[in-house]
Amino acid sequence: MKALIQKSPTRVYSNEGPEPLVVLGLGSNLGDSKSTIIRALVELQIHLRGLGSSSLYLTQPLHVSDQNPFLNAAAAGYYPGGPGEESARELLSLIQGIEARHGRERTRERPKGERTLDIDILLFGDLVLATADLTIPHALLCERRFALEPLVELLPEAREPQGQRTYREICRGLPDQGVKLMEPIPLRINI
Ligand code: AMP
Repeated sequence: MKALIQKSPTRVYSNEGPEPLVVLGLGSNLGDSKSTIIRALVELQIHLRGLGSSSLYLTQPLHVSDQNPFLNAAAAGYYPGGPGEESARELLSLIQGIEARHGRERTRERPKGERTLDIDILLFGDLVLATADLTIPHALLCERRFALEPLVELLPEAREPQGQRTYREICRGLPDQGVKLMEPIPLRINI
């Protein structure tokens, strides 16, 4: 896939090297969400080379409405583990470890309800995968402005790996879902 050659506001990303360019979506609406997201980004720098992050967005909950608004951000970087499914599963396990260290307790939360930290793999290079426990690109990415707006800020030219559309076009076609740009993350990571 030639599509992901990107100029983000802070750096140029290319998806043509041996390390897949990974895009993660981060969200939180429980506890000190801003601090949690920033600390998670610092941890992610250990696993993703050249990590960059979007601004923070204040977003209305989409699926379960009786909960606080979320803070969301996107992060992108290169995963040294390689481009395949096994490598994506390894990353899933790493991000679930980070969620758990920030107080995420899956067994005690209601589905799509409040959480201290949620990290989703939105894109993993060109990988297209649909399995019971891992779908890439993320199954709901194209329905969620809270995920698309930060992604498009970070990677304005990003396209669907198996489609023709840019994520910017897809985002523009969605209704207003109450997504507001909050502020640049003070730690705009540039390694
Ligand atoms: P969540 O409630 O968003 O943390 O997601 C719950 C489950 O979604 C996880 O246990 C994963 O196995 C699964 N999942 C499927 N696809 C993805 C993806 N692209 N990124 C993260 N989790 C995923």
